[in-house]
Amino acid sequence: MKSYWCERAWLPDGVAARVLVRVDRGRIVSVSTVDTIPLGVERLYGLVLPGFANAHSHAFHRALRGRTHGGGGTFWTWRDAMYELADRLTPDSYLRLARAVYAEMAVAGVTAVGEFHYLHDGGNEMAEALRQAARDAGIRITLLDACYLAGGIGEPVRGVQEKFSDGTGDAWLDRVAELRGDDNTRIGAAIHSVRAVPRDTLALVAGAFPDRPLHVHLSEQPAENRACLDAYGLTPTRLLAEAGALTERTTAVHGTHLTDEDIALLGGASSGVCLCPSTEADLADGIGPARELADAGSPLSLGSDQHAVVDLLAEARALEHGERLRTGHRGRFTPAELVGALANHAAIGWPEAGGIVVGAPCDLVSVRLDSVRTTGVEPGQVVMAATASDVSVVVAGGRVIARDGVHEALGDVPRLLGEALRPLLD
Ligand SMILES: [Zn+2]
Repeated sequence: MKSYWCERAWLPDGVAARVLVRVDRGRIVSVSTVDTIPLGVERLYGLVLPGFANAHSHAFHRALRGRTHGGGGTFWTWRDAMYELADRLTPDSYLRLARAVYAEMAVAGVTAVGEFHYLHDGGNEMAEALRQAARDAGIRITLLDACYLAGGIGEPVRGVQEKFSDGTGDAWLDRVAELRGDDNTRIGAAIHSVRAVPRDTLALVAGAFPDRPLHVHLSEQPAENRACLDAYGLTPTRLLAEAGALTERTTAVHGTHLTDEDIALLGGASSGVCLCPSTEADLADGIGPARELADAGSPLSLGSDQHAVVDLLAEARALEHGERLRTGHRGRFTPAELVGALANHAAIGWPEAGGIVVGAPCDLVSVRLDSVRTTGVEPGQVVMAATASDVSVVVAGGRVIARDGVHEALGDVPRLLGEALRPLLD
């Protein structure tokens, strides 16, 4: 039986010292404090946090990092660059790229990813590539398969968008029904957005898989709200609510431009909201009402979305910083709330994960407290100082998957990324 000794560990009641975590078949079977370090255990120094859940990812967007900033650009010109890239990907090149991106996540402390997948290309080969990529990188995946049928409200899909579309809601349902979960993979559903799924198909997607997570891009840009109000006389949130798409299984992604009624609808339904602060900043989306959403009853999660940076610690800190900039007040979220958001595995359909507790998958992330950034930091406030560069050992499902920035199985991650990106960017 494998055991890990943690110099300090983030337990449900707070930070504890000298914690022994015992593992059987990938699950935690005991958590205790010990005075002496037993022989044969793996030692994890610094502060050990629960594994991070990256609740919103589009793996292929990683290829756009640092390449869309020339000449200004807008959300919509960024989207054009993304479409060009989507047009070039094949299942083989996507496997290589996603494997490298998930390895980048692994060394940053991510132990499960919610992949919001819309690049279907007429079948499930791309989804299978993503499943394999996550397995190779040693992280769990939830394939959130997105229905995408329209190029805008009342508009047909055009050009590369045809690769995203199944043609009809029923065809989407039939294809997704063929995807099977496994020990490392769960299947969820997604409404790409109220732009891409017609009103008369929303209920079908929402109700298709009643025991699985349902994600939806929501009100990321004011233009989406205007189009929805013009077409239906409803906000996107109200439209989703009327289609039965807001439940406890739902996670709305972004939720940047919401009315007070929208916030009450989301919170009242206990629907989650996934904030993606680095993407929302990069794409000039705005700062969403995160505190109000949490107070209304929406559990918060975090995602690196387009992967302008893969650093969930930075996303958690940016969540609080956005609140401070928006409101002029500090302490909008406690460090414990921020850690809760970055370990919110329930948002992607793994409710048993996300804590260093008996029964949970053994996902552990040791964060150095002796780096140039973290020396002198109070362990309980490390989320306000540490970055992905401070992540040392990462354990997922009881196995070490990364040490000090190097992937255990895949090795040097920058090399892996370079090999995957070069053919796509030439
Ligand atoms: Zn997204």
